[in-house]
Amino acid sequence: MEVKNCKKCGVFFNFVSGLPLCPSCMKEIDDKFSEVKQYIYDHPGVGIQEVSEENEVPIVIIKKWVKEERLAFAEGSAIGVDCERCGRMILTGRFCEACKADVKKQFGNIIATTTKQPEKKLERDNAKMRFLK
Ligand SMILES: [Zn+2]
Ligand SMILES: [Zn+2]
Repeated sequence: MEVKNCKKCGVFFNFVSGLPLCPSCMKEIDDKFSEVKQYIYDHPGVGIQEVSEENEVPIVIIKKWVKEERLAFAEGSAIGVDCERCGRMILTGRFCEACKADVKKQFGNIIATTTKQPEKKLERDNAKMRFLK
């Protein structure tokens, strides 16, 4: 077990994995999810930078929610998160459609369709958000 300093409140805690935040700060940020979701609902097409600043939630946390498929970048957004397998830009989750299909195949379920996503150029400040859950 590794002991770390919480990046937010400075307390020492047993670090397991993920972000260097203690459980109580982690919970505090998690409680902000509904606030962020409401903000995105009220501001359709808002940028990730603005979501982060207005709600005082670090961008890494927003990306974590995207990875967990709780939030997604809007269709046509200039940025997203990287597929953990091939690095292609995706709007939500951990893997792109093609990799998801590949991973499923390895578990014995054959999926015939793969979706190709067009290459998009990176415009970091232009990310648009929407929520899923
Ligand atoms: Zn803390
Ligand atoms: Zn992929």
